Amino acid sequence: MKRDYYEVLGITKTAATDEIKSAYRKLALKYHPDKNPGNKEAEEKFKEINEAYEILSDTQKKQQYDTFGHDGVSGMPGGNPFGGQSGYAQYTSDDFSNMGDIFGDIFGDIFGGGQGGGRGKGRSSQRRGEDLRYDVNISYLEAMKGTEISIDIPKKETCSVCRGTGSKDSSISKQQCPQCKGAGQVRYSQGFFSFSQECPQCKGKGIVINSPCPECRGDGTVKKKKNIKVKVPAGVDEGTSLKISGSGNAGANGAPGGDLYVIVHMKQLAGFRRNGNDLYTEIFVSFSQVAMGMECDVPVIEGHVKVKIPTGTQPGTTLRVREQGFPILGTKNRGDLYVKINISVPKFMNDVQKRALFEYAKAMDEVPKDAKYQSGNFFKKIFR
Ligand SMILES: [Zn+2]
Ligand SMILES: [Zn+2]
Repeated sequence: MKRDYYEVLGITKTAATDEIKSAYRKLALKYHPDKNPGNKEAEEKFKEINEAYEILSDTQKKQQYDTFGHDGVSGMPGGNPFGGQSGYAQYTSDDFSNMGDIFGDIFGDIFGGGQGGGRGKGRSSQRRGEDLRYDVNISYLEAMKGTEISIDIPKKETCSVCRGTGSKDSSISKQQCPQCKGAGQVRYSQGFFSFSQECPQCKGKGIVINSPCPECRGDGTVKKKKNIKVKVPAGVDEGTSLKISGSGNAGANGAPGGDLYVIVHMKQLAGFRRNGNDLYTEIFVSFSQVAMGMECDVPVIEGHVKVKIPTGTQPGTTLRVREQGFPILGTKNRGDLYVKINISVPKFMNDVQKRALFEYAKAMDEVPKDAKYQSGNFFKKIFR
């Protein structure tokens, strides 16, 4: 003989929706299988409570039940004759895992309101693992060509003994944290102010483990040094952040892992400067080379490039060589190379060079007409 649904939930026929919900919540918490491992009686009670709530929380079904009693809703929730959606149709006594959904929804309503979207039991325990940050120094050459780096990073990994559940016996020994009722947060009031803090008992997870895994002490994760290979694409620059999804800390108790962010820093290289995707350098050439124009080899990161120096190029001129800078991340294009032209003056010349230069100066009318310079003394002086 089936018990009256109102009796099951300990309420009267006139109970309001809120009362039905809170009565259900109290009983469901008490008889939840996670709290009563292996207790058949509690399991039956839990099913009975759920069935009662399923009917009484649905206006249409409640009406049917109020009018016709159990006959009016027989077959629910299975092949129910009214075509209504059963909230726990997938649920069997062997499988309590789906109950999390009903719990999450109901307790989410009650506890989750206004707390940053936190959804109470089952949700807070699903807090994902922390993101991690790792800084690497990359050479100009590596940034030019791309590279793969191998890093050893201490991080939380899913415990292999309990496979992340945190329980010695993975199926039964978890329960909602009694201090925060699964919210992971506890509220304190002080005068007019109230504030919430991470629950000290469950450390914000919303659940406590009755018989914790000896390897990870119930956390579901263990600290380990993990070797991770990171592909660094060509074109990375100072501050580029490479995200490696899921390679952060593993989540506690089977929650999804965080991400790993590898932050790139550029090692400086003497003689070169980078600005965005452009590469800057400078070269020294002689007066005659710029005066007559020439092609010269300019050293760059990966070797040399040929740069044409136009006739008459002035000292301090910067020449642009297209597409010889750094690759532009995520494209096939490259930045440009900027070459500043400096003139070097010879510190020493041999006689042949000196004579040639004097002839040049004469031809350019650069030898002062002053008698002193025209005399043989002057020649003696410079061709000493
Ligand atoms: Zn473990
Ligand atoms: Zn707690």
